Amino acid sequence: MFSKKYSYFILLFLLAISLILAGIIYNSQSRKLKIVFFDVGQGDAIMLSQGQNQILIDGGPSGKIELEKLGRHIPFWDRKIEIVIATHPDQDHIGGLIDVMKNYEIGKVIDNSVQSDSQVYKNYLEIIKNKNIKRLKGKAGINIKIKDADLEILYPNAVLENPPAGGPKNTNTDSLVAKLVYSESSFLFMGDLPIEKENDFINKNLDLKTQVLKVSHHGSKNATSEEFLDKIIPADAIISVGKNNRYGHPAGELLERLKARKINILRTDEKGDIEYICENKLSCQMAN
Ligand SMILES: [Zn+2]
Repeated sequence: MFSKKYSYFILLFLLAISLILAGIIYNSQSRKLKIVFFDVGQGDAIMLSQGQNQILIDGGPSGKIELEKLGRHIPFWDRKIEIVIATHPDQDHIGGLIDVMKNYEIGKVIDNSVQSDSQVYKNYLEIIKNKNIKRLKGKAGINIKIKDADLEILYPNAVLENPPAGGPKNTNTDSLVAKLVYSESSFLFMGDLPIEKENDFINKNLDLKTQVLKVSHHGSKNATSEEFLDKIIPADAIISVGKNNRYGHPAGELLERLKARKINILRTDEKGDIEYICENKLSCQMAN
């Protein structure tokens, strides 16, 4: 029989070992940058995460789904999301963000300042106001540092001042676009930007070559032109899309444009969540 004193010693020793192991595991995890394209049905929801830092780009149509996805990737003690980016005020992009903003502390929100008449947009503004969340108008040139990576906003070119009453008819037109660079790897997040605006990029003389392209507008035929793809030259094309959606996304024409260039097509309706891991300052690799 062990003495009481000896049992306490064993317990303390085991506790110390567990804490050290937990620390080692957490530390090794925190060095990795993860980019996850969540399968949220018809919509977009992307998470960039390194250690305690998280950036969300859109939140899909449903808060329930988005919170469940975040719960799987963010440890329970981390209740803060540093930055939320809303590419444009449509339900399939900001619907899920409302519950996210209710349930997490939010460092700041960046959006394209385009207004909408929709109820979801009213709810979005209300939660920002009620929780006194800092709101920044996104425009080209804004740089965000996330430990080992840089996220740069490339579009819109300037803050959209005094948008027409009720907002433009097509809210996709001024979708916020951002590019993430980690060492040799890069990701281009296109929101729902249509073809006519892609020409802004082609003509801007930016370095647009990108490893992973988040295809615009769920694979609509009205985005991602041949000229655009020839500038980006992506290895992988992510299409965030719902099964049997009523829009017929992704369009056959778009899939043909990608196939003709031997671009690897990855669809959330087929693969579920699509995750990339970047570590040791090398390139980013798909995890699943
Ligand atoms: Zn959309």
